[in-house]
Amino acid sequence: MITVLRLGHRRGRDDRISTHVGLTARQWGADRIVYSGEKDTGILDSQRDIIDRWGGDTEVEYTENWKNVIRDFEGLSVHLTMYGEKINERIEGLKKEFAEEEDLLIVVGAEKVPRWVYTHVDYNISVGNQPHSEIAALAVFMDRIQEGRLKEGFEGAEIEVEPTEDRKITRELDEE
Ligand code: SAM
Repeated sequence: MITVLRLGHRRGRDDRISTHVGLTARQWGADRIVYSGEKDTGILDSQRDIIDRWGGDTEVEYTENWKNVIRDFEGLSVHLTMYGEKINERIEGLKKEFAEEEDLLIVVGAEKVPRWVYTHVDYNISVGNQPHSEIAALAVFMDRIQEGRLKEGFEGAEIEVEPTEDRKITRELDEE
């Protein structure tokens, strides 16, 4: 079970990035995406619309009590930050711990992440020690910890892509 916690969403400014955090988490198999910061029902609704149409059972929710999500979590918790330990030095150990724990919480920020987070997760991990993007960091980390396993098969989908070399083909799927 993988949960992604998106901290500190700012309405307007972070709309697109927060939406893409959710879409990225879903593509790499997150079971649950928890948004915090400024409540934005538009973001939650747009994620749910995509899940309705493109399938999968990722749960999307909002919380004001993001500290509880971290504090109450039982499993392996990882905060992605440019200040953290290098992914290449930690990933083999994290893969083993994930296999043992089975539950993984991945935390990504928006602007400044409170110090509290750094001291309440199991690991602070960097994907390079330069500032870049929570979307990129999340994709790389989820891909690496799952050894490149992208989620395939989004149950209940109304539509799917037929991969081709040079065309754009989608198929509408029959309802059961
Ligand atoms: N100074 C912030 C920090 O603590 O990393 C950078 C803010 S950045 C715009 C938003 C989020 O992207 C961060 O909270 C972090 O989750 C992620 N991020 C940015 N660069 C990263 C990196 N090199 N490694 C891992 N995560 C990164």
